[in-house]
Amino acid sequence: MRYKFHAFFSGRNGFDVLGKMLLWPALILLVAGSAVRIAWLSSMIYYLALALLIYVYVRALSRNIERCQAQNERYIQWRNYRKLRFQQRKTYRFYSCPKCRQHLRVPKGKGRISITCSRCGSSFVKKT
Ligand SMILES: [Zn+2]
Repeated sequence: MRYKFHAFFSGRNGFDVLGKMLLWPALILLVAGSAVRIAWLSSMIYYLALALLIYVYVRALSRNIERCQAQNERYIQWRNYRKLRFQQRKTYRFYSCPKCRQHLRVPKGKGRISITCSRCGSSFVKKT
């Protein structure tokens, strides 16, 4: 039995960080679906939660490990960037370049300053 279980999950993606994170909105939607008293809205929320759960399990059982790992890696990078922004929110302002969308960080409380993009060299004025 244990061998069969192991054989079934070998070569599959499994529950990675993204998969575990996606279980939370599914759970919240299930709770919200039971709290809503309007029948059609409640069933819509349930179907949305079900679709999310199916997506999580399809990713977990997927044999296309490369694609799932790439998605997971992008999610982890995005999460780390959001975490860093939150930690530095009192000392820095974050902007993205209007031309190339490069993320830029400038010190807070310097008034109106001209920000020059480190990637493309274009500059724009913002209040910090
Ligand atoms: Zn730029």
